[in-house]
Amino acid sequence: MRIGKQKVELLNPQSYEELTEKIEIAGRVCYQSEPKGDPEKFIRMIIKRGHESVLEHGSLTFKVRTNRAIANEIVRHRLASYSQESTRYVKYDDIEFIPGEKLKDPNLENLLLSAELAYKLLLTTDFKPEEARDILPNATATTLVMTMNFRELRHFLKLRLDKAAHPQIRELAGMILEILKEKYPVFVEDIEKYPVFVEDIEK
Ligand SMILES: Cc1cc2nc3c(=O)[nH]c(=O)nc-3n(C[C@H](O)[C@H](O)[C@H](O)COP(=O)(O)OP(=O)(O)OC[C@H]3O[C@@H](n4cnc5c(N)ncnc54)[C@H](O)[C@@H]3O)c2cc1C
Repeated sequence: MRIGKQKVELLNPQSYEELTEKIEIAGRVCYQSEPKGDPEKFIRMIIKRGHESVLEHGSLTFKVRTNRAIANEIVRHRLASYSQESTRYVKYDDIEFIPGEKLKDPNLENLLLSAELAYKLLLTTDFKPEEARDILPNATATTLVMTMNFRELRHFLKLRLDKAAHPQIRELAGMILEILKEKYPVFVEDIEKYPVFVEDIEK
């Protein structure tokens, strides 16, 4: 058994200049105007006006390591494409768990270990992985790849960075926001990260 951490990796880094220029070209078709050499200014104007369909012309693909509960929350965002590790076809030997803060307490580690042992015990009988998986908890680690356009990414971030969201998805959304702030800033200038408050984790 291993205790892991959430991770996010950008799989398709693209040139900021090419991306913003493409979006400006697409958006200017609406106004029949010519690019003016400052795509950031144009994109700021588009966002301010709420004309966000133009942002759908650019998208990013992320590889995400999280747990089954948070993966379930992510895939509720429908305007995206996903591929996720199968618990039907993958047989686990050494299971990784990504629990929330409270369950990271070493005194509680045996609870996760007992789930792993129960899973392995079932596999020594006539259970297939797709049947034994029922015993695994929400904290079981999973990998998924998601592709979202910039409009949907902004929507995802606004909902999932909010204080009302679960602390683990807020942490994950914070990682995505950091990547965007560094590489594609104009798309998220108006979106801020909230810290993962300890009092939320303790609820
Ligand atoms: C704090 C929080 C608590 C939550 N709690 C629960 C819960 O208890 N139970 C639960 O089931 N879910 C819960 N959710 C999930 C939530 O209901 C949404 O399913 C999820 O956030 C995806 O958001 P969305 O539907 O806006 O966006 P997306 O699926 O990402 O879609 C983006 C936007 O496209 C439009 N759109 C997409 N599909 C349609 C459609 N079929 N018809 C019309 N417009 C559409 C909407 O404008 C939508 O906002 C929770 C989410 C949050 C953030």
